[in-house]
Formats: sequence, C-alpha cells, structure tokens
Amino acid sequence: MLKLTHRASGRHFLQIPGPTNVPDRVMRAMDNATIDHRGPEFQVIGKKVLSDLKKVFQTEGPVVVYGASGTGAWEAALVNTLSAGDKVLMYETGHFATLWKKMSERLGLNPEFIAGDWRQGVEVSRVAARLEEDKQHEIKAVCIVHNETSTGVTADIAAIRRAIDSANHPALLMVDTISSLASIDYRHSEWGVDVTVAGSQKGLMLPPGLSFNALSDKAIEASKSSRLPKSYWAWNDILEANKNGFWPYTPSTTLLYGLSEACDMLLEEGLQNVFARHTRFARATRRTVEAWGLEVFCANADALSSSLTAVMMPEGHDADKFRKIVLDNFDMSLGVGLSKLAGKVFRIGHLGDFNELTLMGTLAGVEMGLSLAGVPHKPGGINAAMNHFVETSKF
Ligand SMILES: *Cc1c(COP(=O)(O)O)cnc(C)c1O
Repeated sequence: MLKLTHRASGRHFLQIPGPTNVPDRVMRAMDNATIDHRGPEFQVIGKKVLSDLKKVFQTEGPVVVYGASGTGAWEAALVNTLSAGDKVLMYETGHFATLWKKMSERLGLNPEFIAGDWRQGVEVSRVAARLEEDKQHEIKAVCIVHNETSTGVTADIAAIRRAIDSANHPALLMVDTISSLASIDYRHSEWGVDVTVAGSQKGLMLPPGLSFNALSDKAIEASKSSRLPKSYWAWNDILEANKNGFWPYTPSTTLLYGLSEACDMLLEEGLQNVFARHTRFARATRRTVEAWGLEVFCANADALSSSLTAVMMPEGHDADKFRKIVLDNFDMSLGVGLSKLAGKVFRIGHLGDFNELTLMGTLAGVEMGLSLAGVPHKPGGINAAMNHFVETSKF
C-alpha cells in the first residue's frame, strides 16, 4: 500500500476546516456493496436522505444533491436562477467570497463586490444601503458566505434577510454554508434564504464528493425564467426524479449511505446540541489563543466562527513553516492561510466529528509546534481550554 505519512501508529489529526475527520459510523455505513440506483433498495435510501436533509438545512423545501464539490453547488445556484448580464451583489468577506465572485464573472454575470477588510465580516448596513439605492431592482441576487472559511468570520444571515425585506427588494438571497451547515445554527426557511449552498466534507462529516442546493419556492420560480445555460446542474430534472427517491443519472450511492448515517448522528445528538458543542470548542480554542498571547484573526466579537479559528502569526514568523513543523512532529494538519493571508495565519478546524480530548490534542500539538518553531508565546495556554471545559462541564 502506498505509504502517505511517516507515522506508523495512531490516527492522523486532520484539523483543517474541511475535509474533516470521518467518524467510524459513517465509514462503516459506506462499507457496502454498490447497488442498483434504480432499484427498490436504493429508493428507500434516496427518500430517507432527501427527507433527513430538510431537517439538517432547517427547511420545508427540497434539497438538491449533486455528485460534486461545493464549487459545483455554487455554480448550480447561479446558473439555475440567473441570466447573462444579471447584476449580483456579493460581499468580500475573504478568499471564498472572492472565488464565488470570480465564478459569477466567468458565467457572464455582473457582480458588484462590496469591498471588505476580511477581519470584520459583513456590515449589513452597507448591503441595506445598496439595496435601498437600487430602486430599479437591477440587483437580481444577494450572495453571502455564511462562514468565511479563510478567515473564521461569520455573517448574520437573518439580518441580511431583514435588510432585503425592509428595502422591499425582490432580489434572491443565496448563502454559502459549506463550512457552517451542521456546525453553526443555520435556518434556510426561517431566514428566508432562496438558495443554500453546502458540501459534504465539512460539518456533515463525510468525505468530499457531494454538494447541495436547498431551494425556496421563489428560487424554483426564478429557475423557470433563468436563461444561463445549464444541463448537469439543472434542478428541474433532478427534482422530478427525486419525487420517487431517484436521480436522473447515477448518484453517488456509496456517499449517500454515508450521508444517511451522518444525518442520523446529527439528528440523534440534536442540532441545537451540535451547535452548542461547536460553540464550546470555539470558545475553548479562543481562550487558549489569547492565553498564548496570540491574536485571533476575526476582529468582530459578534462574528466569531464556531467551526474554525484563524490565528495570526507574529510578525517575522511564517505560518507555513510552523505548520510543517507540526505535521512532521505530531502528524497533524492545520489549515493554510489562503491568498493574501498565505504565511500570515494558520487555521485550526474544530468542526465535525470532534470532542473535548480531540481539541486538547489539537491545541497541545499547536502549542508544542509554537515552541519548536520558536514562535514567541506564553507556554501553558492550553490550560485555558481545559479550564473552559471544566467550568462548562455538563455532568
Ligand atoms: C470549502 C469551501 C468552499 C469550496 O468547496 P469545495 O468543496 O472545495 O469546492 C467554498 N466555500 C466555503 C465557505 C468553503 O468552506
């Protein structure tokens, strides 16, 4: 077998903000023969996952599942609802928002990008002002990243909905929840989102390979007059086949077994408990980062992410050298700094299949790495996370 790591024993610590560690239960669920995707056995699983997904997205509407990475579901959201030259309002929260904007340009849309400094997140008043100004309703969609994975900064989606409503603006609201779904509270229906974009490999605890569009009635209505070319991504054929639990083409049967199990795990724990668990891990992590005397990249206390923490490297130290030291010594992967943050931040993923001791192992690996890399910090910072867990223990 191809030897990919130099470690002989123990599990690799995959503490990047996605892909995340796949729980044993999900692995076992996928350890199954491939089946006839047009047969009765598949139909049962197809219907089950489509119904479970509604609970996870907190929606009454349909959820479309693609065999694709999250990027595919971004494209699906745009091409199903919009037409060439349509203006879309997007907000520069970081690397992923920038990629979504570039994609919209390639697709022939006309994005208006509200510039942001990456540390503050979305200032809703700026979105509101732009919508108020747009009396002609040229803006056809507002596209927001709920949890900007490059920075660890979140956006208040309910407040954006209120801004759209108070401007009486008909624009669609599309939200990327690729790194927040099943980690941070997210309510597709209640928050009036038209298209929610998600992926399998982050909070859903699955391998990469599936992605999702949750739809509102308004989004489905918009898809009927949208003129951007689409074929594989077209919702209508999929929605039609999904009514009976099938897909128009071969779905990722093995991943769907895993998805079914992952939904069971999330719903057994209870979504609110899942969110509370992530909040607790994030607080413990930030307390430790502060105790080290390092700085969390997110500079807005109301926008701190529960699924990851981006940590700023002190001036003169390279985050990638530090990450390599952690990987070589402790077999742990930490997230890279993306685009303009390359070398300047490292990201600790604390989402998905995760418990207190996984986090303690992660933070211990980071602290030892800081020492080995000669990064100035106060030793013993991990005690702050231990204190947090003791102070907030449930039993
Ligand atoms: C991971 C991620 C993406 C990209 O998803 P892929 O599955 O790599 O295509 C997009 N947006 C956000 C917020 C992400 O975290």
